[in-house]
Amino acid sequence: MGRRPGQPQRHPDRKRPHQSGRHHRLPARPGRGRDHPHRRHVGLAREASINVRQRIARGEIPGPTLYVSGPFIQHAPYPGTEAFRWGVNGADDARAKVRKLAEAGVNVIKLIDQDQMTEEEVRAVVAEAHAHRLPVIAHGHRPDEIRVGLKAGVDRFEHTGLAMAPEYPADIIQLLQERTAKMSLGPLYWCPTIEGFFNYEDNAHNPLHIDDPGWQLGVPPDIVADIKASLRHPGWLAYYQITPLRAKTSGRKFEQLRRAGLVLLVGTDSGIPMKFHNQSTWRELDIWVNKLGVSPMDTIRAATYWPSVMMKVDADYGTISPGKYADIIAVKGDVLRYIDLLQRVDLVLKHGQRVK
Ligand SMILES: [Zn+2]
Repeated sequence: MGRRPGQPQRHPDRKRPHQSGRHHRLPARPGRGRDHPHRRHVGLAREASINVRQRIARGEIPGPTLYVSGPFIQHAPYPGTEAFRWGVNGADDARAKVRKLAEAGVNVIKLIDQDQMTEEEVRAVVAEAHAHRLPVIAHGHRPDEIRVGLKAGVDRFEHTGLAMAPEYPADIIQLLQERTAKMSLGPLYWCPTIEGFFNYEDNAHNPLHIDDPGWQLGVPPDIVADIKASLRHPGWLAYYQITPLRAKTSGRKFEQLRRAGLVLLVGTDSGIPMKFHNQSTWRELDIWVNKLGVSPMDTIRAATYWPSVMMKVDADYGTISPGKYADIIAVKGDVLRYIDLLQRVDLVLKHGQRVK
């Protein structure tokens, strides 16, 4: 839309600085956004995610400012996932699918399994997304996903991947460093979604967090019962079969990404088994500070300032500065000494209005 190059992107749902007032009960989604004024959601059905984003922006339902991807773009959706994963067949199809998402108003394009796509398809996804000023965020689970993604110019990678391999191979680190050395391209971002590796043993053997009423807020009782039943034997979940082995390698991989000059972002993968929206952000910050040796302020910036830069909304959001919206959370106590105080958020302001 009529935006000059270099002009910051306005959030597409934004109408006025202050949405009129009343606050209703939270929508039926575990812990959605109560403690954070912004959230990035990737891999959801297109209409549903955009509809929720717009209704929040219009003040019809309470919630955070959302940035959504709609469906994943990939080689082929896994059976039963067609509503939120779109396969592409050829470069023209890739371009058409990304255009369809851009015209529907998504904020980012999420790309996965790009190592199974042709080079032309991956380039078409990135070129079309960038033509619509949308960043492309890609999975970095497999070595070739990273190599292919770097070659095509994706903007951000996700997850601490490579299964049980002890570290990222030297050629990938070399490629990452060549990329981060190019100032004109801006930062390369990586969202490691790493806390689950460090918390898995406690989650499985002492799963107190499943009893937390916070994630059940506004969720219909039958869905709460269904989720709890699915987690009756936390240590038996097939999803986490190799997690204890992957966990041994994740600290080393995080350190490699840091040293390669990437801008690491706090993100959570909420929605996977045992990972609840109301718990996952503070836990990610806690692990960065207390297990991975990142300073508390750098960790907080990775959850606030850098994501706003990555989404090109830093003219309005991301720091407490004159001219930006007051989107602020506050807790009692010194979070720079005790980062896990963030699990009890005392105050939430969104666009200058108190939400909690
Ligand atoms: Zn992902």
